[in-house]
Amino acid sequence: MDDINQDPGFAEGVGQLESALNTGDDIRETDIVFDCPYCGHGLVIDNRGAGLVIACASCGKPVQVPIPDGMDISDLDQGPENLQLQVRTLRNALLKAENRERELQKLLSGLTERRATLERARTNQLRRLGDLRQACERVQQQITEASVMMNRIFEMLQAELSQ
Ligand SMILES: [Zn+2]
Repeated sequence: MDDINQDPGFAEGVGQLESALNTGDDIRETDIVFDCPYCGHGLVIDNRGAGLVIACASCGKPVQVPIPDGMDISDLDQGPENLQLQVRTLRNALLKAENRERELQKLLSGLTERRATLERARTNQLRRLGDLRQACERVQQQITEASVMMNRIFEMLQAELSQ
């Protein structure tokens, strides 16, 4: 895909979208209020946006603006300008999704690194435990040898005294 940031129409489209997406408190009677089906974020858009696909202001996924009951779709201004806005909106959503994917990839490689570090630490601890066990066995062996030698000395002393 071409770098859409270089597209002079792109920034304009985003600007139009941001003004179309009314996120303030001043909800007008003509506004359509609905929740994003993906993230549940409350969205408010002018009723001229009914039926259009817009990017959710929160998660960036493309969502279709519901058409209110009793609204005649043929009344809607679906001229080339709106279709162009829709295309730009979808490109914006795609860009956000790509950014999200990059973030997740970064997160994944971070976790993979962390896992490798923990794996190394575990291996080191197991090795240290093995070393400790060997040291204990050596000490045990030396105690046994010393005890055998002491018994021998004791027996020699006893034999000498009984003569
Ligand atoms: Zn959303």
